Amino acid sequence: MNRKTEKAFILDDKGNILFEKGGTSKSVQFNLKESRYFVDNIFIHNHPGASSFSLDDINIMVRYRMKEIRAVGVDYQGNVQRYIIKPRTPGVYPKGENIRKDYKVAFRSAYSRWEKIYKSGKVKWEEAVINIGNELWTEVAKKNKELIYISEVI
Ligand SMILES: [Zn+2]
Repeated sequence: MNRKTEKAFILDDKGNILFEKGGTSKSVQFNLKESRYFVDNIFIHNHPGASSFSLDDINIMVRYRMKEIRAVGVDYQGNVQRYIIKPRTPGVYPKGENIRKDYKVAFRSAYSRWEKIYKSGKVKWEEAVINIGNELWTEVAKKNKELIYISEVI
């Protein structure tokens, strides 16, 4: 879990690993054949730095109609952060364009807020990044009721 690069797993309902793949420090790339494993399954990957989801993560979930997506990482304090996003009703997703639109607005607002707090010296940048991600996905899920967003320390 405490890796410098990303690694992704696709699991079925029963927790069996169907597929796994490594990537760079920022992402894991999949080809078309591999993406067939996505549909109706659970996608788990680590985030070096323990930040929340990228917009790409959620785009992939919606596009391939995944059951759930999780990101796990060890933060600057050594805590294991886990993020989960999934449809409230299986198979029912918001429109990708709505998510992208709400993401952009929420990102700008959370970023400028935490940038100010960071510049005042109250938080480390690593902490600000985690808070930006959490705030923005909480906001996106509030506007897109089809989504459930969970952030927890495990
Ligand atoms: Zn990710």
